Amino acid sequence: MCGIVGYIGGRSAWPIIVKGLQRLEYRGYDSAGVAVINDGGLLVRKCKGKVADLVQMVKGQDLSGSVGIGHTRWATHGVPNDVNAHPHTSMNGKFVVVHNGIIENYREIKARLVEKGYSFKSQTDTEVLANLIESFYLNEKLTAEQAVKAALRRVIGAYGLGIICTDEPGILIAARKGSPIAIGVAQGEYFLASDATPIVEYTDQLIYLDDEQVAVLSSDGYTISNLNDVHVDPVITHVDFDADNIDKGGFDHYMLKEIHEQPQSIADTMRGRVQSETHTINLGGIADAMPRLASARRIIVVACGTSFHAGLVGEYLFEQFARIPVEVEYASEFRYRDPIINDDDVIIAISQSGETADTLAAIRMAHEKGALVLGVCNVVGSSIARETDAGIYTHAGPEIGVASTKAFTSQVVVLAMMAFALGRRRGNIDEATYASLIDGLVAIPSLIAQVLDSEPQIREVSRAYQLAQNAIYLGRGYLYPVALEGALKLKEISYVHAEGYPAAEMKHGPIALIDNCMPVFVLATHDKFYDKIVNNIQEVKARRGQVVAIVTKGDCEISKMADYVIEIPECDDALLPLVAVVPLQLISYYVAVMRGCNVDQPRNLAKSVTVE
Ligand code: GLU
Repeated sequence: MCGIVGYIGGRSAWPIIVKGLQRLEYRGYDSAGVAVINDGGLLVRKCKGKVADLVQMVKGQDLSGSVGIGHTRWATHGVPNDVNAHPHTSMNGKFVVVHNGIIENYREIKARLVEKGYSFKSQTDTEVLANLIESFYLNEKLTAEQAVKAALRRVIGAYGLGIICTDEPGILIAARKGSPIAIGVAQGEYFLASDATPIVEYTDQLIYLDDEQVAVLSSDGYTISNLNDVHVDPVITHVDFDADNIDKGGFDHYMLKEIHEQPQSIADTMRGRVQSETHTINLGGIADAMPRLASARRIIVVACGTSFHAGLVGEYLFEQFARIPVEVEYASEFRYRDPIINDDDVIIAISQSGETADTLAAIRMAHEKGALVLGVCNVVGSSIARETDAGIYTHAGPEIGVASTKAFTSQVVVLAMMAFALGRRRGNIDEATYASLIDGLVAIPSLIAQVLDSEPQIREVSRAYQLAQNAIYLGRGYLYPVALEGALKLKEISYVHAEGYPAAEMKHGPIALIDNCMPVFVLATHDKFYDKIVNNIQEVKARRGQVVAIVTKGDCEISKMADYVIEIPECDDALLPLVAVVPLQLISYYVAVMRGCNVDQPRNLAKSVTVE
C-alpha cells in the first residue's frame, strides 16, 4: 500500500533511497526505514514517524554501501511503531524485507514457523514472510532467489517486495503480486520502487513487474522469471513523467489520485475476506463478536460527514439482508441527546481516521451503557480502533485529499460484507443469492474502472456547470445516500451550495428552487424506482431545470429528456452506491478545479476532525 525504494549499483545507496522515500511521501505513511549492506555488514534503521525522523536518527552513522532498500509503511497488521516499521529482518539475520500489501495467510504460516522454533519481534505479516523465506533457505539449502520463490508459492495475498540476502550481498530481489513494483534500468545500476516517482530522475527505462514475477538485480545485469522459474522476457517501457505532477503519482491532486485508486482500494478492502471461488465471506476482525451482532435487537451506526453517508447505505444493506433494524446517527447529536441504548444493541462507529472526536465520545458513551461497539476505520491502531470491542479495517490505504473518496467506497464495501455475512448467518439469504451478491461485490472494481474510463465526458459535463451557484442532487433507495454524498463533495471542494434529497421529497419544497440556472443531478439507474425517477426528471424539465442524469448503460429513455447523461454499468441495486458515487466525485473535482479552488486543502476543512 505504501512505498518501496531499492538500489543496487556503483553509487552509495542511502542518498538515493532517502530521496526516493521523500518522493513517495505523497502516498501517506506512518513509519519509515532503511537497510543497507556495506563492508561492516547489514545496517537496518527504522522508526515511527516521518522520513525526516529517520534522517535525524541516522545522522552521523555510516550508511555507506551500494545495495539498499527503504520503505514507508502504512500499517495494516500491527500498530505503527518502531518495531513494526520495515525493513523486517529474519530471525537468523539472513533476509531483510520491505513489503507493501497484505499476507493473508500469515497466521497459519506464523504458527508453523513457531513450531519450528521461530520467534517474532513484530506483529506484522511481513516479518512472517521474512522468516518463511529464511526457513526455506536454511532448511532446504536453496539459493536466496529459490527460497524467495518457494516462500511466495506458499503465500496468499498481495505483495510488492524488495529483499536483501546477507549471504548474497551482490543481489537485490524484487517481486510483485497485486502491489506494483517498477524497476529502473540504467548503466550498471538498477532502481526499485513501488511506483515510477523515485526512479524517473535517474532513468526513463522502466520495467513493471507482472503478478508472480521475481526480478534478481545485480550490478552486472538482471533476470526476471515467474514463481515456477520460467524465464520472462522483460518489456521495457519508456516513461515520460510530468515533473510537476511527480509528487502525486502523476495526478494533479491527491483527490483525483484517490478517486482513481478505488478499483485497487476496494480490492484491498475485500482481500482475504471475500472468497469468490468458495463464495464465502470471512470477517476475522469481528468473528468473536458475530454471535452478539447476529442476535442484536438493533444496530446503531454513529458517524460524521462522508462516513455518515456510508452508514446510511449500511442502513439499507443491514435492513434488506440481515433484517435487523438500523438507526444511523450523527455522532455529535447522538452523544448529547441521552439516547436510549440497551445492552442488546450493537453500535457500529465509522471513521476514516479513527480519531473523529464526536464518534469517539459516542463510543465511550455506548460502552458505558453496555452495548457492543464495533469499529470501521482506515487507520490501524487509531483511537477508535483501540477503543472498540472489535472491528474491520477498511484497508483503503492512506487518504490524503481532505474530501473523502476512496474511504467512502471502502466503508460501504465493509458494511456490505457485514450485511451479506449476517444475512446468510441469520438465514435471510439463500445460498444462490449469497453467491450472486459475492460475485457482484468482486466485480465492483472492474465496474468502477469502466466509470473512470468516462472521465473525459464527465469533465465536459462539469465544464457546463462550472459557474453554477447552486445544485440539487436526487436519488432514491440505495442512491439517496449517494445524492447526499454527491452534494457534500460539491460543497466541500467547490464551495457551491448543493442539496441532496430523496427524489420524492422534491415536491415538498426544493422544487420551488428550480429554474433554468439550477443543475439537478439525478441518480436514475435501472432499479425499482426507475419509473418514478423518470417522472421526477420530467417535473424538473417542466420547470426548465437542467438535468444531468446518471443512468444505466444502454438507457435510451432518459437521454431524450435530460441535458446530459452519464452512463454507469449495471449491477445489483445494493451495490449501486459504489459505482454511482464515482461520477459525482469526478464532477465535484472538475467543477472545483475549473473554479480555481484548492481541491486538496479546501478552506475551513480539516482531514481528521479531532475536536467536537
Ligand atoms: N502489511 C504490512 C504491514 O502492516 C505492509 C503495510 C504496507 O503496505 O505499508 O506492515
